[in-house]
Amino acid sequence: MAIQPAHNICPLCKESAREQSSGFLRYFECQRCGDFDVDQLSGNTLYYHEQAHRFSGFTREETESDKDPVRLRQKNFNIILQQLPEDDDLETKCLKLLLHVLRKSAHLGAVVNLRGLLDYPITYSRNVDEFEFIVDEVVARGLLRTVGTAAEMGAHSVVLTTAGRNAVSRKSFAESSDAFVAMWFHPKLNSVYLDGIEPAIRDTGYNPIKVDNLHFLTKIDEKIVELIRACRFVVADFTGNRGGVYFEAGLAMAWEKPVIWLCRRSRISRVHFDTRQFNHIAWDTPMDLRRQLVDRIRNTIGGR
Ligand SMILES: [Zn+2]
Repeated sequence: MAIQPAHNICPLCKESAREQSSGFLRYFECQRCGDFDVDQLSGNTLYYHEQAHRFSGFTREETESDKDPVRLRQKNFNIILQQLPEDDDLETKCLKLLLHVLRKSAHLGAVVNLRGLLDYPITYSRNVDEFEFIVDEVVARGLLRTVGTAAEMGAHSVVLTTAGRNAVSRKSFAESSDAFVAMWFHPKLNSVYLDGIEPAIRDTGYNPIKVDNLHFLTKIDEKIVELIRACRFVVADFTGNRGGVYFEAGLAMAWEKPVIWLCRRSRISRVHFDTRQFNHIAWDTPMDLRRQLVDRIRNTIGGR
């Protein structure tokens, strides 16, 4: 039988951290993994989880972005992991490092201090050795410049170069592989998503992001804005005429993201007068929708 993890030991990185408990909930403030909470059972599972380092990356990233503490719950582990960089995804790990340095840079040319022993989760790394590898890679590409000498293992003082700054803004938006899906979250539309929209997006090489899969993460409205800001394009289905779908499509248009407009054929006359002129895909069945959506993505955005 597995040994129960001790109090004040972070279940993600297994190092000491501040812990407070309240009933079944455990709140952690970890210098490596940031702020998060877990229930008793999820904490025990995480402690022995093979992918714990990827959760560390996520909780640290959310904390660095001043989000509310992540709530880690066992029933959502797989859904969370699907959104996170894979272990061998070097490009995303390099980008995470650059975004962190950008966030910490108060001005052009600012020196940012990295402490690998504490900061390795920023790159979703398993340990400080992997962090070092990623720093070396980003420096070799000319995206960061190191200044001064290291005071401890894994420590670097770095400056974001102009090439690094350009790489961050270009990669994080234009090269995103995420397609944000705006639609009515009603059970009768489940198969429209599962058999129509989701496979069409995957068929063209993109990653579908549907917010009801992420409800537990943080405040939903902030998350939506951030996901739309970061995505490559938006797929918006107006069946059911939900206000939220209009809001999300409008937000995307304001940021000059492509929007693909959809509606069940029998409901298209109900689409709001102001947006009716957009070229909607009128669909009859999920299979029909899938075929049309693949064509539209390939013709207007391009497959990956
Ligand atoms: Zn930790």
